Amino acid sequence: MDKETQTLTNLMGLDRSAMIDYFVSLNEKPFRAQQVMQWIHQWGVRDFDKMTNIGKALRAKLATISEITVPEIVSDQISVDGTRKWLLDVQKGNAIEMVFIPEDTRGTLCISSQVGCTLNCSFCATGKQGYNRNLSVAEIVAQLWVAKHLLAEQYQTEDRIVTNVVMMGMGEPLLNFDNVIAAMNIMQDDFCFGLSKRRITVSTAGVVPAMSKLKEESPVTLAVSLHAPNDELRNELVPLNKKYNIETLLAACEAYVSDSQRAKVTFEYVMLEEINDLDEHAEQLIQLLKNFPCKLNLIPFNPFDGIAYKRSSNNRINRFRDKLKMAGIITTVRKTRGDDIDAACGQLAGDFVDRTRRSMKNKTLNNKIN
Ligand code: SAH
Repeated sequence: MDKETQTLTNLMGLDRSAMIDYFVSLNEKPFRAQQVMQWIHQWGVRDFDKMTNIGKALRAKLATISEITVPEIVSDQISVDGTRKWLLDVQKGNAIEMVFIPEDTRGTLCISSQVGCTLNCSFCATGKQGYNRNLSVAEIVAQLWVAKHLLAEQYQTEDRIVTNVVMMGMGEPLLNFDNVIAAMNIMQDDFCFGLSKRRITVSTAGVVPAMSKLKEESPVTLAVSLHAPNDELRNELVPLNKKYNIETLLAACEAYVSDSQRAKVTFEYVMLEEINDLDEHAEQLIQLLKNFPCKLNLIPFNPFDGIAYKRSSNNRINRFRDKLKMAGIITTVRKTRGDDIDAACGQLAGDFVDRTRRSMKNKTLNNKIN
């Protein structure tokens, strides 16, 4: 079969055990897995010819049966505050977004796990675009791969620039469980990106059954989108709450950190004016979270076109924070970054989608015309 007609295996998406299986299936030694992964992820090499510690014959074979591909970059913007946002083409008119947030002592890459999202949280731009599909392992890992290499150019250094990865872009990571786990394996692999599990955060709206599985398979840092202190309000804001209510969710959170004295769950709480930011909400939240091993991160709501919610005022946010702090709950307010490039949390919607659909329609139209 020639290269065009055969499905090529994308090596970008194989974690260590999958890569070993791949080489063993080719009657090759398992250690080839490590070598190839190091070329791809550590050194950013996608050209088999440059993989000089691999024999010529094997290189030639790999070039005919496999590929190392990453999504094409559709746009690349840098904010005045240094935040950088990319839009990546994941085929068939779909795009995903990722954001890099530089800070004094760390650089955080916020990546996507799905095209769109099924959960439809009422204040989230991604939810509004509906759900299209899960990202493949390769598409998840490629976000880090692309960012790492472009940031090395931007900052002119080989030092580690992405120190942390957060799954807080588009999608619900725990509903794309297997692919997210394999992608995180690659991120943690010492021959790839070597990130420790503490520096990788999975953010979930509360897919309870997957939380215990996550703990078993890859106990990374856990963030949970709480957003409301009672079920009535949470049902409205995070419809998944109808399936797994706050009590069930908190029990799963407690179990997640139960083995460790130090581990804490981060609860995210979006600040929506007059919706969930009143004193009574703060008080309910205190009842819920006091004595719980957690941190609370208040996220000023980031508005987008066509949404009726408003961001709570700074005064209100600070008052809310102070009340929680007084009650002994570690509470921080998330700084809003990348405002000028719509890179803020909850605004990632892959603008490319609509444009492409339109241009695809045009194409079909043009084909018909011709
Ligand atoms: N599905 C995962 C990841 C979503 S994005 C989850 O629900 O946790 C990461 C965070 O951004 C979540 O806490 C999400 O609720 C929040 N978010 C979504 N839309 C937002 C908006 N418009 N403004 C501020 N935060 C938002």
